[in-house]
Amino acid sequence: MGVSKLKIPKACEYCGKAFEARTFNTRFCSEACNNASLRNRKKQALEDERKQQILQENVATIAEIQTRPYISIAEAVVLFGISKDIIRRLIKAGKIPAVNLGQRLTRISRTHIEAMFTAVAIQRKATGTTTCKTPIRAKRMLYNR
Ligand SMILES: [Zn+2]
Repeated sequence: MGVSKLKIPKACEYCGKAFEARTFNTRFCSEACNNASLRNRKKQALEDERKQQILQENVATIAEIQTRPYISIAEAVVLFGISKDIIRRLIKAGKIPAVNLGQRLTRISRTHIEAMFTAVAIQRKATGTTTCKTPIRAKRMLYNR
């Protein structure tokens, strides 16, 4: 078994330079490119791992919020994807029960907000049998009389 006499034209996967590879599996033009690529892949793997960790922490946080009956406004923003202003407006309108334990210590009922979302879903189902054009047409008929 000697050194392969193959000369396969390839482009280095790291620097992009054209080179002649001796095996079909060669991916880099030089040892330096090989090492650099390996370093990059290791770095990328670490970064992916860190991102995954942050994601898992967020999932854990959200799961924890969901176990509490009363949550902060900031937590409601994360949990329901609605703005602080809307939450404050709903509190003022008396639609969400809230307890004010002090400045920036407002706690609101998580279950009540959840119920609001459920109510919207039910309403949609109820009107789902009629198309949205019908009421408009009915309105037009009223005006045309
Ligand atoms: Zn290279």
